[in-house]
Amino acid sequence: MAVTNLTPELRGVLKLDEAMSKHTSWRVGGTADKYYEPADIKDLAVYLEQLPEGEPVIMVGLGSNLLVRDRGIRGSVICPTGMLDGFAILEGQILRVEAGVPCAIVAKRCAKQGFTELEFLAGIPGTVGGALAMNAGAFGGETWSNVVKVETLDRQGIFHLRDREQYLVGYRSVIGPMVGLEEEWFVAAHFSLSVGDGEAGLSKIKQLLLKRSETQPMGVPSCGSVFRNPEGDYAARLIESCGLKGFKIGNAQVSEKHANFIINLGNAKAIDIEQVIITVAEKVKQQHGIQLESEVRIVGDE
Ligand SMILES: Cc1cc2nc3c(=O)[nH]c(=O)nc-3n(C[C@H](O)[C@H](O)[C@H](O)COP(=O)(O)OP(=O)(O)OC[C@H]3O[C@@H](n4cnc5c(N)ncnc54)[C@H](O)[C@@H]3O)c2cc1C
Repeated sequence: MAVTNLTPELRGVLKLDEAMSKHTSWRVGGTADKYYEPADIKDLAVYLEQLPEGEPVIMVGLGSNLLVRDRGIRGSVICPTGMLDGFAILEGQILRVEAGVPCAIVAKRCAKQGFTELEFLAGIPGTVGGALAMNAGAFGGETWSNVVKVETLDRQGIFHLRDREQYLVGYRSVIGPMVGLEEEWFVAAHFSLSVGDGEAGLSKIKQLLLKRSETQPMGVPSCGSVFRNPEGDYAARLIESCGLKGFKIGNAQVSEKHANFIINLGNAKAIDIEQVIITVAEKVKQQHGIQLESEVRIVGDE
C-alpha cells in the first residue's frame, strides 16, 4: 500500500493497491487500485466529482457483508467508516447519523440518551451506510423501519436529500431512485426515534448480544448469514438438512454452529468461499428444489 499525494482541494487519505483483506470481516480479498477515506461529506463530493469518467466506484463500510475476490477491485473503493461520523438528535426526535458510524454505536448512544427501537442494530457489525444499503435487520427490527429521509451523493458529487418513499425497501433489499443505487451513495440517515427507558434499552442490547453469542460463531472471520431466508423457511435449516455443516473447500467451511455462516479457518481464499457458496446453493436446490440467494455482495475481478 502506498499513500499518494492528492490535489490540494482533497483532504482525505488516498491509498494505492490497498489490501482489501484488511477491510473485510472474512479477512480475504485482493487489492483495490485506489482506496479513499474522505475527510467529510464535502470532501467526498469533491472526490467523486473529479473522478475520471467511467472509473468504477464502490462504497464500502466495515466490509461485513462483502466478499472481495482474490484479483481485487479496479477503480476506486471509498470507505467513510470513522470519517463520516456525525451524530445529532434534531428537533422532533429525529436522529441524523452519518454513513461511517458503526451500527453498534448508534444502538448504544440512542439507548443511553433514552431512545428506543434501534437496539437491534447493536449486534450488526457494519456501518449506517452498509445497513441502509442492505436494509440490515435482526430480531424483528429492520433499518428502514425508522428511516424518514436519507442524504446521498451522486457520481457528480451532487448532494440529495431524499424521502423514504423514494425507495423500494424489502427484506435485505433496497432499490433507490437511481437503478441499483450504484451511482448514488448514502452519506447520512434520518431515523425517527421513540422515547424509551435508557436502562431497559441497554439491558435489551445485552440480551440480544447474548442471544447472538449462543447461536452464532463468534471471534472467527465470517460475513454473518450468507443466504437470505426463503419465504416460510430458514436457509440454515435447509443447509443443515443437506448434511453440509462442516463442509469445507480449502480453508472456507460451513460453520458447525450455524449452517448459514461460512467461516474462514485461516488463510482461506475468496475463491474457496465463493465455491462453498455455489456448492451449498446447488446441493440445497438438488435436495429441496429451493434456490437460495446470497445475501453477501460479491465484488472484484473474477
Ligand atoms: C458476525 C456477523 C453478524 C451479522 N449479523 C447480521 C444481522 O443480524 N443482520 C443483518 O442484516 N446483517 C448481519 N450481518 C451482515 C452485515 O453486518 C450487514 O449487512 C451490514 O449492514 C453491512 O454493513 P457494512 O458497513 O459492513 O457494509 P459492507 O459490507 O462494507 O457493504 C455491504 C454493501 O453495502 C454497500 N454500501 C456500503 N456502504 C454504502 C453506502 N454508504 N452507500 C451505498 N452503499 C453502501 C456496499 O457497496 C455493499 O454492496 C452480519 C455480519 C457478520 C460478520
